[in-house]
Amino acid sequence: MKEALREREERYLMNTYKRAGVEFVRGEGALLFDSEGRQYLDFLGGISVASVGHCRPEVVDAVSRQAGKLMHVSNLFYTAPMVDLAERLSESSLGGPVFFCNSGTEANECAIKIARKAARRRGVEHPGIITFDGDFHGRTYGSLSATPRLNQNTDFAPMLPGFTSVPFDDAEALTAATGPETAAVMLEVIQGEAGVFPVSDEVLLTARELCDRYGALLVFDEVQTGVGRTGSLWAYQQGPVRPDLITVAKGLGGGVAIGACIGTPESGAVLEPGDHGSTFAAGPVASKSALAVLDLVDSPDNLRRIRELGDHLSRGLDGLDGVEEVRGRGLMIGVGFEAGIDASRLCSDLLDDGLVVNAPRPDTLRLLPPFVLTEEQADLGIGKVASALAGVQAK
Ligand SMILES: *Cc1c(COP(=O)(O)O)cnc(C)c1O
Repeated sequence: MKEALREREERYLMNTYKRAGVEFVRGEGALLFDSEGRQYLDFLGGISVASVGHCRPEVVDAVSRQAGKLMHVSNLFYTAPMVDLAERLSESSLGGPVFFCNSGTEANECAIKIARKAARRRGVEHPGIITFDGDFHGRTYGSLSATPRLNQNTDFAPMLPGFTSVPFDDAEALTAATGPETAAVMLEVIQGEAGVFPVSDEVLLTARELCDRYGALLVFDEVQTGVGRTGSLWAYQQGPVRPDLITVAKGLGGGVAIGACIGTPESGAVLEPGDHGSTFAAGPVASKSALAVLDLVDSPDNLRRIRELGDHLSRGLDGLDGVEEVRGRGLMIGVGFEAGIDASRLCSDLLDDGLVVNAPRPDTLRLLPPFVLTEEQADLGIGKVASALAGVQAK
């Protein structure tokens, strides 16, 4: 990587990211290429965004055509791609109306507003939202307040009131924390940023039952798990319950920024004109991109392939020396290592060896590869993880 780029980045960008020392210039399918012409196998997909593959021709085509026709008019007018997309999202999930936005954190802001308003309507004075420890819901204030790991940071105090977290996947703690003032239980069906930890079916059932008992909304943050990642279009479809709201972003746009909060007919009717909005939301380009993504992802064959490839990858990784456990579902995989193995070290060794992954915690690698990954590429990646493991264990 050119030193000059690093220096200008340092000078002109706020210092909020720890970037790896690679400059990517091109992507194709599950491959990335850097400015020195080196090729990488991408097992991270831009954090579950490039799910249909980098620069997937169908997506590039949909975006380019629309960009040459109409890019933006705002939500003061009708555009068909937005309505087409809302219909697709609604009919494939909860059957209610959709609110569009541009990111995961915004999708959760919408869910929080709906939950609070619905609670107020039934006379709740201090609506509470309950999350699990380890949940990640985003960086804007509502979502930040709903993110236990980050809402403790007093640099940004005060947080929004009314957010409580309980120990992860603990039905008893969840039951104890919930009551008539509960507006929502909000959770990731499989925690992503925490290191890939699925919530048990028992706890999902408990959460559903508690929400029904108190009239609260069950909100599933599917920003990372959604759009096919786990081998069903939505992760909740493999579990025992239906939520009242799901929030979506990351993989939805195939690389273009778009997010959505999808409701049931009831929860989707809570917001009224003036309650919420977004200038860019579901513009024609982003909507066309998402429609192209859904065309590619939402077929039984494709979803089965995601499950099969995920099983293949998980099995291959599970047998490696130094691996303690493999967690997750479909192509959302966390590889947990035995004590003494430093995942971030492994991560940078793997990058040097041409495999892109990330380490959400010191003992875990997270894999979110594009769905177009071939079995050969999967095996190549497993081989690279094996040699990196051998490398760190030899030291
Ligand atoms: C990434 C993520 C978010 C935040 O999405 P942004 O687009 O970065 O705002 C929220 N929830 C989950 C589960 C995520 O993985």
